[in-house]
Amino acid sequence: MDRRSFLKSSSLVAGGLALNSLFNHAVAQNSNIVLPSEKHPLLLNFNENSLGMSEKAKEAIIKALPNAFRYPDDARAELQKNIGELYSLSDKNISIGNGSSETIQATVAMLANKAKKRGINIQLVTPDPTFNYAELYSLPLGVTITKIPLKTDLSFDLAKMEQAANDFDGLSMVYICNPNNPTAMITPYSQLDKWLSKDSDNTFFIVDEAYAEFVEDPNFTSAIELVKKGQNNLIVTRTFSKIFALAGLRVGYGVATPEIIAAVDTFLSIDNTNTAGAVAAIASLKDKSFIQYSLKSNDISRKIVEKALNEIGLEYAPSQANFIFHKVKGDVKTYQQRMADAHVMVGREFPPAVGWNRLTLGTPEEMQQFVVILKQFHEKGWV
Ligand code: PLP
Repeated sequence: MDRRSFLKSSSLVAGGLALNSLFNHAVAQNSNIVLPSEKHPLLLNFNENSLGMSEKAKEAIIKALPNAFRYPDDARAELQKNIGELYSLSDKNISIGNGSSETIQATVAMLANKAKKRGINIQLVTPDPTFNYAELYSLPLGVTITKIPLKTDLSFDLAKMEQAANDFDGLSMVYICNPNNPTAMITPYSQLDKWLSKDSDNTFFIVDEAYAEFVEDPNFTSAIELVKKGQNNLIVTRTFSKIFALAGLRVGYGVATPEIIAAVDTFLSIDNTNTAGAVAAIASLKDKSFIQYSLKSNDISRKIVEKALNEIGLEYAPSQANFIFHKVKGDVKTYQQRMADAHVMVGREFPPAVGWNRLTLGTPEEMQQFVVILKQFHEKGWV
């Protein structure tokens, strides 16, 4: 059975069946699992949405192609307006990026320039491990990098991060990835809002919510709520690369006050949005059933993996995204290589979280294949 019919037979699109029965159905398929091969590897290393994009997005691209010899201004403006409406904000609150990566890059450059103009120092305060693009974009600009290790429970050490910002003589950019990559854990809003809602000329927050659409935990609240209240020292970044499955089309965005958006936009590449990406993003936002479909598929995949990890006795962090951070007994590089030899690409090690591996949740069918291999590894004493 292919993945589409697998999911459809589970009434995912209609949402008719309870997840548990879908899960049992998935587990019952064990006997006819085709394992990955050199030609058909499992790509579980970049947190993409293996379902592929919404059919509506594909149709929109095909429809837009004849006019794609024109510059993308109209499609870009419509996308900006639609995203604004999504959050009951204006298009002036939205900065479109060539992926949220560009939004992060432009924000870092804007802040470094601001510090330069003010003649003050600038640092990036970042948890460790976390997604490292803010760090990578800061390094060539001479920004000081201050890494604050995660606590032993893998949560952010917010008190230490705040202390590091307060102790610094200059401007502190604080990067908060929520849910965090690589742990897939959320930071509850109750722990963030006090610090994030403090007005300050010397602290600026980049809140990266690339995986927010996957979150089901009610303790999570988007920092976009603070933008709505006019908080002027933060930007929230989001992407179409994850739940919307448009990673190759490069569309992301930032949400902030109009003043911040105008400043960030100055550092974007002009005409940074391609027509195909813009129309696909517009169609994807409207395709609510695709989002439901992705969410349910991800839930089933997570359950398949969690069940196997429980059976094998491998610890894992509570995942609120489309990946899961789990322990591997022994050396992670060796594990990663052995998985690659079995045609399964898994994430790398994220020091200082040594002994943990980040695994992308692909389709349920892909995760069943993964589990077979993981169990084989366990039998060999490799995990
Ligand atoms: N932020 C986080 C936390 C990510 O994991 C990623 C990609 O993996 C990105 C941002 C960048 O995504 P994109 O530039 O495709 O929007």
